Amino acid sequence: MSDVVVIGGGIVGTAAALFLAEAGASVTLLEAEAVAAAASGRNAGSIQHPLDAARAELYEESVAIHRRFGVIGERAAGLLAVGPDAAEAEVAAFAGLRAEALDSDALRAIEPEAAEGLSGVLLHGTGFPAHPAAATRRLAEEARARGAEIVEGVRATVEVRDGRAVGARGADGKDHASDRVLVAAGPWSSTLIDPGGAWTPVGALWGVTVQVALPPGRRVAHRVEEWDGPFASGVQFEATPLDDVVVLGASRSTATPDEDALAAEILARAARFLPVVAEATTVAVRACARPLTPDGLPLLGPVPGVQGLHVAAGHGAYGISLGPASGRIAADALLDRAPVPAAFRADREALRP
Ligand SMILES: Cc1cc2nc3c(=O)[nH]c(=O)nc-3n(C[C@H](O)[C@H](O)[C@H](O)COP(=O)(O)OP(=O)(O)OC[C@H]3O[C@@H](n4cnc5c(N)ncnc54)[C@H](O)[C@@H]3O)c2cc1C
Repeated sequence: MSDVVVIGGGIVGTAAALFLAEAGASVTLLEAEAVAAAASGRNAGSIQHPLDAARAELYEESVAIHRRFGVIGERAAGLLAVGPDAAEAEVAAFAGLRAEALDSDALRAIEPEAAEGLSGVLLHGTGFPAHPAAATRRLAEEARARGAEIVEGVRATVEVRDGRAVGARGADGKDHASDRVLVAAGPWSSTLIDPGGAWTPVGALWGVTVQVALPPGRRVAHRVEEWDGPFASGVQFEATPLDDVVVLGASRSTATPDEDALAAEILARAARFLPVVAEATTVAVRACARPLTPDGLPLLGPVPGVQGLHVAAGHGAYGISLGPASGRIAADALLDRAPVPAAFRADREALRP
């Protein structure tokens, strides 16, 4: 019997396993496919500020965790928000981000591949590139090093008896007994917690990204994204330069996406902001789902109505940027060390039917 069974090997589940194991708990994590198989391995690769106050502390703590485990360095690469009206006012509240308004010439001076005529805001203090799966794999390694057992290739269901969690059952027929179960299964969390489908606070917002290699000698220096662009096409431009590829995005749809059609749209939209994209070679097209709550805030801690059952999910487009801190909060709640902040609790007002 483990102290805690975690279901889901994305960034949130692996972070929770790490902090549980670090606190001395025995942990078994069950992952249906492989660590980082879903959004935590297929995202756009940018660790960045969510630009809202409610999630700012999760971001700050997550950056510290990413640094602690060597996923990112001290200095941000910068985030360049481009568009006709890249609103300085909205970022002014976050003084630590050191926003600098750039006219077209200044913008092209720091980002020579940008299209002519764009203006924007450079946020010097955020935008840490990291290969999509790097953070989650690292946290999984650190969890294992502290004694967590991570089992891949086992789809699990939650076992509940008389209103109490009693463990998880693997599709391989094995039972994993525990009186504390954490569901950290991203967009699949609602279904796992309530297979009947009455409780659905975490939905799926699918997204496609395209990884491209630029022609030799050409480079993009910053994470660049379209500021509040029109969603008419369902595609909003963003580009994250990693060491070998640039990740271009991204689409948003509640239905499973048509990857090829969206890849063409993503490339066309990106070329309007970064014309060099027209000369780039496509290396990979990837789809995954953002786990999203109705109020856009994560869902953490005890699930109402089932003793010992906890959840950690719903980080939307910012799970790599916020998930490590959520894992720490989820671990503390499971071990009764600290309560979950009210804004993220699973029984909060905004989620009541
Ligand atoms: C296109 C796109 C780009 C993104 N870019 C960024 C970005 O640049 N920066 C950023 O911060 N965030 C980004 N995100 C968001 C981020 O990827 C997610 O918020 C985050 O990965 C969610 O992590 P998670 O651990 O909650 O869920 P997931 O990564 O979905 O992990 C859940 C895991 O649970 C497993 N699972 C499901 N059901 C079961 C079961 N029954 N039994 C066992 N295991 C199960 C799945 O296999 C999966 O591995 C992006 C998302 C998308 C879609």
